[in-house]
Amino acid sequence: MSAPAALITQCLQHDFVAPVGRYDALPNLLHIGFEEARRLMGEDPDEGPVARVMRWAQLQSDAQLKLVHIRDWHDAADPAQQQHLQQFGAHCIKGTRGAQFAFADADAANKTATIVDSPGLNDFLGTPLADALAIGVDARAHRRDGRVDGSQGQLSRL
Ligand SMILES: [Zn+2]
Repeated sequence: MSAPAALITQCLQHDFVAPVGRYDALPNLLHIGFEEARRLMGEDPDEGPVARVMRWAQLQSDAQLKLVHIRDWHDAADPAQQQHLQQFGAHCIKGTRGAQFAFADADAANKTATIVDSPGLNDFLGTPLADALAIGVDARAHRRDGRVDGSQGQLSRL
């Protein structure tokens, strides 16, 4: 299915954007810091700019708006990811709160979102992002329940 517009988010995950105290140590070297987190997430992250945009997006029909979330996604046991995790500090380890989206991605009843898991700094390397953007975000997706609809299984749908 094609839509006239798409909203693509990248790394809107707790380990990168969660509000921190002004003088708190950042959780890793990729966190955006106190001021930017406050600008993005607002005083109350449930009512801040990201939350409001995502609520709006989730109300749009799939026919009107494709929603794609690119997330940094690491397996701490994968030797190929060790250098990245050591360089920047542990972050976005799959299954942790830090890897979760910093907005409510609750099962929006009538909205499909595609998730692209990225293991590195270039979201096109080792991911199906290019294919998803070239042929539409519905291709080769697997659902939140883990059921794989296509061959690669690196895309997920909410
Ligand atoms: Zn990373």
